[in-house]
Amino acid sequence: MKVHKEKCTGCGYCLLTCPVGAIESDGWASIREEKCTLCGLCVPVCPNDAISLDVPLKEPERQYGTQYDVVIIGSGIGGLMTAAALAKDGRRVVVFEKLSFIGGRYTEIDHAGYAVTTGAWTSMGPKSHIGEFLSDLGVEVEYASLRDEGYDQQFSIRFQDGREFPSLQAMLPREDWRAYVRAIVRGRKMELDEASTRDYIEEQVVNDDLMAAVNTIAATASAVGADNFPASEYIVVSRDSAKAGLDFACTVGGVRTLIEALAEMIVAHGGQISTRTEVSRVLLERGSATGIELRNGDQVKADTVIHNGGIGRFVQLVGPENLPADYLARVEKLVPAECAAIILGTTEPLFTEAPILMTPGTDRVAGVFESTLLDPSIAPRGKHMVDVFLPLYSEDRARELELAMGDLRALFPNLDDILDMVVPMFFTGAWPGSESRQTFGQVGHQRLDPRSPIPDLYLVGMDVIGSGAAGDLIPVGVRRLLEYFQCDALG
Ligand SMILES: Cc1cc2nc3c(=O)[nH]c(=O)nc-3n(C[C@H](O)[C@H](O)[C@H](O)COP(=O)(O)OP(=O)(O)OC[C@H]3O[C@@H](n4cnc5c(N)ncnc54)[C@H](O)[C@@H]3O)c2cc1C
Repeated sequence: MKVHKEKCTGCGYCLLTCPVGAIESDGWASIREEKCTLCGLCVPVCPNDAISLDVPLKEPERQYGTQYDVVIIGSGIGGLMTAAALAKDGRRVVVFEKLSFIGGRYTEIDHAGYAVTTGAWTSMGPKSHIGEFLSDLGVEVEYASLRDEGYDQQFSIRFQDGREFPSLQAMLPREDWRAYVRAIVRGRKMELDEASTRDYIEEQVVNDDLMAAVNTIAATASAVGADNFPASEYIVVSRDSAKAGLDFACTVGGVRTLIEALAEMIVAHGGQISTRTEVSRVLLERGSATGIELRNGDQVKADTVIHNGGIGRFVQLVGPENLPADYLARVEKLVPAECAAIILGTTEPLFTEAPILMTPGTDRVAGVFESTLLDPSIAPRGKHMVDVFLPLYSEDRARELELAMGDLRALFPNLDDILDMVVPMFFTGAWPGSESRQTFGQVGHQRLDPRSPIPDLYLVGMDVIGSGAAGDLIPVGVRRLLEYFQCDALG
């Protein structure tokens, strides 16, 4: 068993999957050989083939046909939303997923009794874009909401110097709060495409604490700070969050509840999902997509191919020589978002004011999400789980972790006494980083259209048209694609 360090992006999926605790991570995974039982479970959860066994794992049984209406590459939330809608609309759909689990960065892996997310922490509830998409599609999920659990606010604020505020409004003098709200209400997208969030907010109100808080909100939504986050996008995120906040909620059981519900709908409508089935090539005939080839050599034909595996991999699967030069140039210029999370298990809650704690003015940590305040079922009985989010500022993963842990110890002086689990997860490289970050020139309609330059080949997921907080922009692009397909599944 070997970890190829040069391929490891640090996501930690292997560590989470290992049943005997033989994998550790300091930003890069390493295997403790004396503990490893060579079970091989870590191999097919690695997005980058960074782990190899001396004897290759047996190929899974082939459970797919040779001809479909639609082939979808990747079972991220974008791929599954699309597959569910198209299957419900009567198309013969198959989803091919490289990993041994579905959901990509939007599910959980069970680890030491905790359901640890592979990326996303929450859909924000029924009033988010994702929540509304599911409801329009007729997918029912159970939510644990802020209101039901007795909280007034989605987030509270804590500075390292000990100052705490239950909300932005409570933190600001009345005039500054009004000016801030006016800025959000008045901001018009078209006029703001070139303005940074910092410049725009500072034009309306000068308050250092506010700017530090705005910086953390931008970072948690997109992994970039206020200098690089376009004001237009900040306004969309603020408005969306306010709307979702009217009924902020988590799905009971973690975000994978959404993924499982979508998968159920796909299968109920005759669709298929095949895991451990990597697509190695998109087949083209006379310039149009006609199907895919799998890594095992099988070819599957389809009228339409939809890619959900990230833009970098899209170029590889299609072949750069088959894409127009201007498209390729545009894709190569996209700036990827690099970020990390530290998942903590604790024996006591870290904080109890609201499920999200914004932490302005730290070295690294932007926001801390205590998911078990809303849904205790995702941790062992009596334990708590906290998801710490940090944008990355250097490639030195050990140093980034050290700075983040320093922030956490300053914010929570009793941290070391109550720690039960620490899992660092880095989202770097072409995948599984959130590929094109929300920075200038790549927000909203500036993102890629679902229609690729190749006929019958489409894109869904994080790189595609849409605005909003993190993965919540994905349904915007999926809806656009469904319009192209004249799909009526959303009612
Ligand atoms: C730390 C972190 C925290 C986040 N928190 C939130 C949050 O709280 N809320 C939120 O909404 N969003 C959040 N996000 C963003 C969210 O996780 C992503 O936007 C979303 O999961 C991306 O979904 P996607 O559809 O683009 O596909 P992905 O999740 O990227 O999945 C793509 C899938 O395609 C598969 N694939 C790739 N290539 C192939 C191939 N050749 N053959 C077969 N399969 C292939 C991959 O294995 C993968 O399963 C967070 C992200 C990170 C990193």
